[in-house]
Parts: sequence; C-alpha cells; structure tokens
Amino acid sequence: LEVIRAVEPRVADAIGQEVADQREMLKLIASENYASPATLLAMGNWFSDKYAEGTVGRRFYAGCRNVDTVEALAAEHARELFGAEHAYAQPHSGIDANLVAFWAVLADRVEAPALAKAGVRNVNDLSEVDWAELRQAFGNQRMLGMSLDAGGHLTHGFRPNISGKMFDQRSYGTDPTTGLIDYEALRTSAREFKPLIIVAGYSAYPRLVNFRVMREIADEVGATLMVDMAHFAGLVAGKVLTGDFDPVPHAQIVTTTTHKSLRGPRGGMVLCDDSLKDQVDRGCPMVLGGPLPHVMAAKAVALAEARRPEFRDYAQAVVDNSRALAEGLMRRGATLVTGGSDNHINLIDVATSYGLTGRQAESALLDSGIVTNRNSIPADPNGAWYTSGIRIGTPALTTRGLGTAEMDEVAGLIDRVLTTTEPGTTAKGAPSKAQHVLDAKVADEISRRATDL
Ligand code: PLP
Repeated sequence: LEVIRAVEPRVADAIGQEVADQREMLKLIASENYASPATLLAMGNWFSDKYAEGTVGRRFYAGCRNVDTVEALAAEHARELFGAEHAYAQPHSGIDANLVAFWAVLADRVEAPALAKAGVRNVNDLSEVDWAELRQAFGNQRMLGMSLDAGGHLTHGFRPNISGKMFDQRSYGTDPTTGLIDYEALRTSAREFKPLIIVAGYSAYPRLVNFRVMREIADEVGATLMVDMAHFAGLVAGKVLTGDFDPVPHAQIVTTTTHKSLRGPRGGMVLCDDSLKDQVDRGCPMVLGGPLPHVMAAKAVALAEARRPEFRDYAQAVVDNSRALAEGLMRRGATLVTGGSDNHINLIDVATSYGLTGRQAESALLDSGIVTNRNSIPADPNGAWYTSGIRIGTPALTTRGLGTAEMDEVAGLIDRVLTTTEPGTTAKGAPSKAQHVLDAKVADEISRRATDL
C-alpha cells in the first residue's frame, strides 16, 4: 500500500478501507466471494502489460510464450474440472462470455450456412448483396431466456443490454404458486416461438434447474441450448450439482463468470462442444480485444484450487449453509420466494414478511453491517428499482469458515434488523420507498456482532 500511497494516497486509503469493510461486515451478496491470496497475487503483476490477441500458439503479437502457458493452463484446468471438450479463458467478464457465446452460435448457425450458400470461406469474400442479407439475418434471430423478475439476467435478451437489441426475445418465467420454473409452459412457448437459442441460468433463482429437460425442449424446437452458469459454477465444479443439474453434459455451450461461487478473479469463460470450438475461439476479434493475461493467470490458479478435494467440501458447505439460512429465516416467520433454497441463494420477500421495500431493507441491513442487495421478486409490486426482495448468498461467508450454526445466528440478525425497521417518509411526509427508520442502538449492536462473526 505504501507504494500506491506515494503516488495517490486516496487510492491507498480506499483499498485499506475496502479490506476493512470486507473483514468487518457480513458479505451476503450472492455473486461475491473472497478469492485466495494465490489468485490475487497471480493477478497483480506484469502480465497486465502484455498484448496477446489471438489464441494459444497463434498470436498476432510476438513474445507471447508466457501468456500461452497461462492461457493453456486455465483452459486445461477448466476442461478437466468441468468435463468440457473445449474451454476459452479470454472473456473479461460474464457479459463478454455471453457475447462470445451468442456470436459463436450466430456464426455457426447463421453465418456459416450463408457462406456455404455463397460458395465462399470468408465474410470478406461475400458480395455486397449477400453481406447485406446476412446482416439482416443476424438481426432477425430469436432468443428465449428466463424473465428478469423470475431471476434471469439482463444479458439473456433484455432491452437495456445489447442482447435485447440483437435478438427478438421472449421470456419464460416461474409458476406463480410454486415459484419454480414451469417446464411445460416453457416447452409450449418454445414450440410457438421457435428460438435459435434457449438460454438457461439465472442470477436470483434459489432452486435447481433441470438441464436435461431444457436440452430436450431445445432439441425438439431446433434451438441451441446455452447455459449461463455464472452464479452456480462453483457448485458444478464442487460436484454438488451433478446429473440433470450439471449443465456441461447437456448444453452445447456454457458460459460462466470466474469470480462468484467459483472463487476466482473477476472474469468470464466459455465451455463448449468441439463443434463450436472454432467459432468460440474467434471471441477475439469478434467481441473482445486483447486478453487480460494477468487475469488468465489468476483463473488458472483459481481453477487449480477448485480441482482440489477441499473445494468439494466448500461447495457442499455453501449449499448446507444456504439451507440453514433458509430454515433460520422461515422459522422466524420470513417468507422466501419458492419457500427455501437448493443452491447458494435465498430470496426474501421483505414486502410480505416485514412491510418493507427491498431498498429500505437493503439500507437497514447495511447500517447494521450486513451487506446484501435488493432484488425483484416474481411480479414485483415495487418494480425493478425499489423491489420487494433481498437476495442473500452464502459463498463468501462459507469461504470465511462460517457453518450452519452461525447461519442460524445470521438469520436471527437479519430478522432482528428487519423486524425493527420501519418504512420512512419523504421530506413532505409521504411514504418513501427508499428511506428506512432503524434504531441506531440496534444497528450498532448487530454491527458489532457481525464483525465478531
Ligand atoms: N450472467 C449472470 C447469470 C450473472 O449473474 C452475471 C452477473 O451478475 C453476469 C452474467 C455478468 O457478469 P459480469 O458482471 O462479470 O459481466
């Protein structure tokens, strides 16, 4: 820190404060974790300075032998860990991994047939007329993805994201009574809509997804099944999600982030069948520029860690903790979307349970040293900004060594904060969806316990 402080002390201070916050507060954000020192050190070094566009052994720059080593290692660990035919370790983030996957499928299913029809091998050789036709065809493709309020992700075809502008999108949701994915409704929708891609995967769904059934539906309508396992990749790596619940044997293409339950550096990755390998490897220059060699080095380290037997214990503990948290919350009277958790996520309906918006609950918890995020629940009456839900996840606290007994206590702390929080009012005295009123003594007492834990 002193080296940084000598240049810009405010950055050094912010780093120091961030470390203190992450130590003192209870980190319950479902997409966060604590990467190991080995992973962090692999990321903070001179690899960051190297350009290496291209793929292993086939670069557009000289001097890439060390980048080749780490990229090949990251891909090898990923293939072995997930049992995938091919792994592409270059995406800088989850959103990039999804873009690589979308364009790999578009290249395979739209561009390649157009090139074959025109009798050329390269897009540059298409006539202007054929090129105009192909560009139109790219914009006319359909995607079926999980709706945002049921727990899907913005990159699965929603308008604020480029995927919603690239694809004609339709959503599948969950059953209004059980909160679970309704596979028969999904099948009917897929038959009518005939999408090019069906996207499975989620950011806020607390249950398991049956990827065998999803593939069956995709095959029936001629769609490619893409699974975005960003959230639960650590549970797949740790062999907690197996059989029908492991996406890799079922989907033609799987994307992930490396920094959530997988506990690696911030980044993305694509796994696929050999049939899509060449298209996936064109992620650069299709949607990526130069790879981040320092992050690929850290991915290789984190994936090596995830191949160790201890990681299986960790993944199982993440799920055990999530169930214990669910039970602890429900025993105290909280309403959970779907009535429980089978993975690392719990979604508390704070409007029904505590008469609060997600925004009020999130800030009351933060005042008490508990870091969460507000989240929509299905058919959310408070909309996507204020929301009626709080999403909590166990990957980070499990890394810190907390077990099921502590989870029950954490459930008690959350319940205590939310039962003592009142909705606030605006300056004009109207009810506010953002403000909360919480006794400072309660906030202080809970914060101190959060730090001790
Ligand atoms: N996919 C899913 C399912 C996610 O939950 C997220 C992030 O929250 C992403 C993709 C995007 O990841 P990133 O923030 O690395 O772009």
